[in-house]
Amino acid sequence: MKIIAIGRNYAEHAKEMNSAVPKQPIFFMKPETSIIRNNKPFFYPDFSKEVHYETEIVIKICRLGKNIETQFANRYYDEIGLGIDFTARDLQQKCKEKGKPWEMAKSFDGSAPLSHFVDKNKFDNLQNLNFSLELNKKQVQIGNTKDMIFSFDEIISYVSKFVTLKIGDLIFTGTPVGVGEVKKGDNLVGKIEDEEYLNFFVK
Ligand code: ZN
Repeated sequence: MKIIAIGRNYAEHAKEMNSAVPKQPIFFMKPETSIIRNNKPFFYPDFSKEVHYETEIVIKICRLGKNIETQFANRYYDEIGLGIDFTARDLQQKCKEKGKPWEMAKSFDGSAPLSHFVDKNKFDNLQNLNFSLELNKKQVQIGNTKDMIFSFDEIISYVSKFVTLKIGDLIFTGTPVGVGEVKKGDNLVGKIEDEEYLNFFVK
């Protein structure tokens, strides 16, 4: 399986990063080795001094597809969950300045904590889904999928032009405003609506 992640999919987050709002989705990948499940701790990597959390709704692909049309894209994912797209911001900044790929800043071991997944039909409207992150009991991110620049369906359609989507692939759909640093000892709690999906520590 593979993980595809969308960059700058919330205008307010693009603004806080001093980045332009994209005209087409920007995507990158994280390897399977980036996944942390079952709320196991995230071990702070020694190659970075500035690791940021990015809380994101994650969708799970349930059908093989390529060149998927937007109008049919909703048939290609059946479950959603919550994930953190941990980013070594200091390394990413250096990569950006030099026009290099971001992989070292985005794809390292443990950079993708994932919650359990639930049937997408559990939710009335996927285009109006609140999700949030609490850092040490203080809310630091709150987002709503209605603020996405590109919808889940548009993302699936766009990405599948380049990359065949396979059953079990995951797509991180972008983070809202409010990204920030984590430190050793921090507790992160992620919610979709009022339900807890993630609750883990940084070690
Ligand atoms: Zn992200």
